[in-house]
Amino acid sequence: MAGLPPSPESCCLRGEIRADGGAAGEARLYQFETVTGGTVTYDHAVCATCETKACIQECVPKILTCNEEGLPVLNITAEEARKGRCIECLACEVDCFFRGAGGGHIVLPIPGLDEYLAA
Ligand code: SF4
Ligand code: SF4
Repeated sequence: MAGLPPSPESCCLRGEIRADGGAAGEARLYQFETVTGGTVTYDHAVCATCETKACIQECVPKILTCNEEGLPVLNITAEEARKGRCIECLACEVDCFFRGAGGGHIVLPIPGLDEYLAA
């Protein structure tokens, strides 16, 4: 049923739903960690409006799939993604920006950046 978060069996054991707002405009963040301590986030509230699902097509190691709602989720466990199966290629975020609806976002730590900016 559209608008509900994925079932625990299908999704939460793989990635993690951090928020699943019921009201219009609220984020539904599906997140998983990467090998360098980064975080990949797909806002399922936005993804539900996305016609291309470009992130799934463009993920280089093919670790993404559609869940039963047609939203992007891992087809591996979150632990596998964190141990390096997500190669931090950024393809999902870049193609989301150009061809998707803007629900994909990646944050990767850059060692030394804070110190550099503060200098
Ligand atoms: S391309 Fe972006 S908006 Fe579309 S499903 Fe993927 S992350 Fe969501
Ligand atoms: S960063 Fe690359 S490997 Fe990781 S989920 Fe996105 S497209 Fe796939």
